[in-house]
Amino acid sequence: MEKQFAVIGLGRFGTSVCQELYAMGHDVLAIDRSEEKVEFASDYATKAIVANGVDERTLKALGIRNFDYVVVAIGEHIQESVLATLLLKELGVANVWVKASNAKHYRILEKVGADRIIRPEHEMGIRIAHLLDSTKVIDYIELSDEHSIVELAATEKIANKTIAQLNIRKKYHCTLIGYKRNGQLNIHLSPEEVIYENDLLILAGENSDLKRFEKKGL
Ligand code: ADP
Repeated sequence: MEKQFAVIGLGRFGTSVCQELYAMGHDVLAIDRSEEKVEFASDYATKAIVANGVDERTLKALGIRNFDYVVVAIGEHIQESVLATLLLKELGVANVWVKASNAKHYRILEKVGADRIIRPEHEMGIRIAHLLDSTKVIDYIELSDEHSIVELAATEKIANKTIAQLNIRKKYHCTLIGYKRNGQLNIHLSPEEVIYENDLLILAGENSDLKRFEKKGL
């Protein structure tokens, strides 16, 4: 069964989520109380409707509980975002993902049962800081406070060696998930495979181990 998505609030964040899901071929219901926003959204949603995301009757009439994921992206309207989250959880939506605009908002959303809370500016800020911190890190994804996935370019120092010879797991306690070469991602790794200079290594591990590999291993 295809997953069903609904996005409530079509500001910059909600619109991006909606557009991307739709481009991937998913069914997306887009909801906003602004007619103008809904009109714009009709090009990148399966269905776009003008409705109030905190109105219980409307949500019920839309059969919102049958959606697998509902994204609440009503931005700065904290009270409404919290109310919508509460209602959606009460109505039985399995996954309610909510955009929080600040730390306080985040804490309230945790309390009312949001399944995932996103702070786009905060998360992006952290990611950018990591990219700025190191010229070697091409990309960075935070998994938890202590764990990340990083993309690092292979230097001359480790080039022309096999994955077994590099022995990254043993030496640095990091896991090589895959690598990108000429834009192609390879995740079916064998120990005999040779790494070339400028291959982009994708590694998962504890932040301190990843840092150690970046500083000493490359
Ligand atoms: P962003 O920071 O992602 O651009 P905005 O705060 O600009 O977010 O946009 C939030 C959107 O949510 C607006 O389009 C607004 O009309 C919509 N919105 C706010 N409250 C509700 C609500 N109760 N129901 C539906 N849509 C809402």
